[in-house]
Amino acid sequence: ARYDIAALKTALDGIKTEDNAALVKQKSRDFFWYSPVLKRQLEHVVGDLVVTPRTRDEVVRTLAEAHRLGVPVTPRGSGTGNYGQAMPLSGGVILNLAEMRNITRIAPGRVTCEPGAILSDIDAATRAHSGQELRMHPSTYATASIGGFIAGGSGGIGSINWGGLRDLGNILSVEVVTMEAAPRVLRLTGADLAKVTHAYGTNGIITEVEMPLTAAYPWVDVIVGFDDFAEAARFGNALGEQDGLLTKLITPIAAPIPQRYFLRHKRFLPDGKSIVLVMVADHAKDAFNLFLRRFSKAEVLFDASQIPEQDREGLPVNNELSWNHTTLRALRVDPAITYLQVLYPFPHQLDLVTKIHARFGDEVMGHLEFVRFDGKITCFGLPLVRFTTEPRLDEIIRIHEDMGAPIFNPHRYTLEEGGMKQTDALQLAFKREADPQGLLNPGKMVAWDDPAFDFATGKTYLYPSLAATL
Ligand code: FAD
Repeated sequence: ARYDIAALKTALDGIKTEDNAALVKQKSRDFFWYSPVLKRQLEHVVGDLVVTPRTRDEVVRTLAEAHRLGVPVTPRGSGTGNYGQAMPLSGGVILNLAEMRNITRIAPGRVTCEPGAILSDIDAATRAHSGQELRMHPSTYATASIGGFIAGGSGGIGSINWGGLRDLGNILSVEVVTMEAAPRVLRLTGADLAKVTHAYGTNGIITEVEMPLTAAYPWVDVIVGFDDFAEAARFGNALGEQDGLLTKLITPIAAPIPQRYFLRHKRFLPDGKSIVLVMVADHAKDAFNLFLRRFSKAEVLFDASQIPEQDREGLPVNNELSWNHTTLRALRVDPAITYLQVLYPFPHQLDLVTKIHARFGDEVMGHLEFVRFDGKITCFGLPLVRFTTEPRLDEIIRIHEDMGAPIFNPHRYTLEEGGMKQTDALQLAFKREADPQGLLNPGKMVAWDDPAFDFATGKTYLYPSLAATL
């Protein structure tokens, strides 16, 4: 090996470690297999040792020893990311933060907790404490950690009111530990938060976070049906624009996705209907019913408040039909399905959705998530794609971009290629400071490995340890 794992294990005496091959393999994977491209590239990736710290001091000790021995460290929350973010491309340590999950302080408008705290556990605690909840969460609410969400996620249920996770004010502070001979513990706030948010853990380990809270209400799941997708999208947009009508989720999904893939809801989903999944505050239900009357063709297919609890048993909640759970349900039925992440820029979002879906027909099936971005209601797309070949997938991406809809490519494992195809100078500078040996989550920041890499060529960056195996 390039480094001495046995020596590291000895040095970490007293800290929980695991080197059983099957268990290490299990913790070396996330939901990368969502992408046929990443599945091909990352299938064989495996770490050497899982280290499960229980305190910040154990994180500090682990990073100091791994630094001394030159062992790479890849952090992991719950491993639900779907770009291979948490996969150890250079082997080494998987730093499993799942057991650091204490919720340490709840106050009006804020909660402080450890990085491994599960999002739904945070909400359960803040609701019980003072009727508050997180502003937003991914559809992996029941399993994802807050540290993983901050380091690898982007937004989700609640983004219709609060925008994206990295919008100003949506994270209050984080504590990070650096990877140096003597790791430092830094508290980042304000403009410094951008150094580590959505940096895939390449430049520091998050050991504590402070998040803003909002009022928690009972949310009612409703599914509204339409004869065509464009009308469903128009309804979603108009509902998002209702300033006084509180919703938490507005998700138009084109037929035949619901009928084919939302198997447990089958009895509620007539053939041919495109749908809009809605989570509406129970106090806004009256206003919602009034709003519905403006859409003469809207038909309520499902209203959780009208269905006795025993008849809803076994039905997934709307949030587990939305965002990337839509893709998950499709993949379970049809493994040849994959997806894209599309931005339909304001103010032409509805036109663009219609034009693009007309262009592709059944090859690209519509799925929108309405969000509030910079104060404006618009939509983000997670369309399902019938996968044939990688060149065709690239072509579909190119056509979207040519038509004016930028793609955040979910078939790439690097920060740059999954995002804006440019280096985040702040994150790169912080990596120089916090991880001078380049040992944190190697291979995920192109700018670190290959500063001369030219994104304009359209070529995929291939980390050397992967290139050897392909
Ligand atoms: P992991 O996958 O464990 O880690 C994510 C990244 O963060 C990795 O790069 C990891 O190295 C790094 N990391 C983890 N913990 C730390 C730490 N303490 N310090 C530094 N770095 C760390 N995402 C969304 O944003 N919105 C969605 O709606 C959404 N829906 C999803 C639906 C499905 C079905 C699936 C499979 C995924 C979805 N995702 C979504 C992606 C993912 O679930 C979320 O981003 C989730 O919050 C990740 O949390 P995790 O604990 O699983 O993180």
